[in-house]
Amino acid sequence: MQTFQYTKAASIDKALAAGSGSKFIAGGTTLVDLMKLSVENPSGLVDINLLPLDKIEALPNGGLRIGAMVRNSDLAWNADVQKDYAVLSQAILSGASPQLRNMATTGGNLLQRTRCVYFRDPNAGTPGGYGCNKRAPGTGCAAMEGFNRMHAVLGTSDKCIATHPSDMCVAMAALEATIQTEGPKGKRTIAFADFHKLPGDTPNVENALEPGELVTYVDLPKPIGGAKSVYLKLRDRASYEFALASCAVVAKVEGGHIRYVRVAMGGVGTKPWRSHEAEAALMGKPANVETFKHAAEAALAGAKPHGENAFKVELARRCVVRSLKMATA
Ligand SMILES: Cc1cc2nc3c(=O)[nH]c(=O)nc-3n(C[C@H](O)[C@H](O)[C@H](O)COP(=O)(O)OP(=O)(O)OC[C@H]3O[C@@H](n4cnc5c(N)ncnc54)[C@H](O)[C@@H]3O)c2cc1C
Ligand code: SF4
Repeated sequence: MQTFQYTKAASIDKALAAGSGSKFIAGGTTLVDLMKLSVENPSGLVDINLLPLDKIEALPNGGLRIGAMVRNSDLAWNADVQKDYAVLSQAILSGASPQLRNMATTGGNLLQRTRCVYFRDPNAGTPGGYGCNKRAPGTGCAAMEGFNRMHAVLGTSDKCIATHPSDMCVAMAALEATIQTEGPKGKRTIAFADFHKLPGDTPNVENALEPGELVTYVDLPKPIGGAKSVYLKLRDRASYEFALASCAVVAKVEGGHIRYVRVAMGGVGTKPWRSHEAEAALMGKPANVETFKHAAEAALAGAKPHGENAFKVELARRCVVRSLKMATA
């Protein structure tokens, strides 16, 4: 690990004044690992734990504002979140371990990086090391022909097939959250769908943040009256494991027909994967298994497996069908 300057910011202005080359540190559960592996080599760490961003508050429009420093545990166990946004609580509680969730923050979870084993190799992207276009553009992608069982089947490019690992983000995609930021150029609101980037030709560009820009809040819209929401995560073991496939559903059924639905998938996409195709196949249709199977087909129609991860396509279809059954039961 290279040496770095550590400062603790007492205000947002002070945090934003950090020079280029610095990174914010929140819970540290991702960043410190990546620094030990030489994946991240910031010249400075700006500790943002003193910032007044640790509240969950009602918004005047009936939605909920979540501070970027709200710990994953506090968010998951919040009474309003459990009542009105159950999918978010379930998604967070399905991730990591209680100890990690006690440290991990909303902002840090949004910005966690892929678990691709080649990306996390200290020598990736260096001469003699594994090729990794995300670590060092132009060095290739060792995962394409290598160990890719955990990798993505949706949103991939010929430069990178790394999966986005977050559970929380899949629920936020289905809830159509918005992200509030503050940076050297001022404040911005970013739609959740625009926050994480597809790899395309530049897998090293992972999100819409500008250098030095701080996530301040995540806003959830007013809950949909009469809707039920569910997060289902399928993985190699029952806890403390990343998703092979997961699905977040928010659905409202009236008179046996689907009147509102949002579907997002995890473990299979290069970003938290909202499936407009599945939603189109569900809207207005009878809430039954036949409809759910059509939706699952539509959701995975564009899937591109790479050898070892071909099983994910069928697994993800089944995950979509089962989570739709649960959300409409
Ligand atoms: C063993 C293990 C298992 C895990 N399993 C799961 C799992 O099953 N599912 C899952 O979803 N996650 C899992 N995780 C990931 C975990 O959720 C993340 O490590 C955590 O959410 C990161 O939050 P943090 O506050 O610790 O971030 P940090 O490590 O402090 O920061 C992460 C990144 O976010 C940036 N950042 C943090 N806050 C802000 C902000 N406000 N504005 C701008 N940038 C910011 C930092 O600069 C850094 O680049 C696991 C992690 C570990 C170590
Ligand atoms: S999948 Fe992406 S992160 Fe993994 S080795 Fe290939 S380029 Fe790197």
